Amino acid sequence: MNPIKVPCRECGMEAPADQFKLHYKYKKMVCPTCFSGRTEAKRQKEQEEKVTKKDKPAGWDAEDDYLEKMSRSRRQEVEVSPFSRIPGTHQVQCKCVHCKFTFKYDPFKKTPRTCPYCNQDVPRLTTFNLL
Ligand SMILES: [Zn+2]
Ligand SMILES: [Zn+2]
Repeated sequence: MNPIKVPCRECGMEAPADQFKLHYKYKKMVCPTCFSGRTEAKRQKEQEEKVTKKDKPAGWDAEDDYLEKMSRSRRQEVEVSPFSRIPGTHQVQCKCVHCKFTFKYDPFKKTPRTCPYCNQDVPRLTTFNLL
């Protein structure tokens, strides 16, 4: 006959009920694993691992920050010149940095002033940029 298995109130693992013993420290019936101190040892090890893992990311974070900044400045470069010339015309195309809507922009009349789609201001464009 199989012994009845019950969950340990300390570690949650199931163990045969007749192997539970009263632990002086936990002050309750615990499974053989807990009673032998293996659960506590395992927890301490996990705790140590958590601490060492915590130490590591400090260095990683700095690198992540750096990479983040790099990609952010790269992204800004793209955003700085949302204009592209339409070949054969004096007009330019503007890609809205907010909604990515592409529309025609007249660099001489400086119109439209806002994105026709999301109404955000169109960044200023100097005709010099196009020459
Ligand atoms: Zn246990
Ligand atoms: Zn827009």
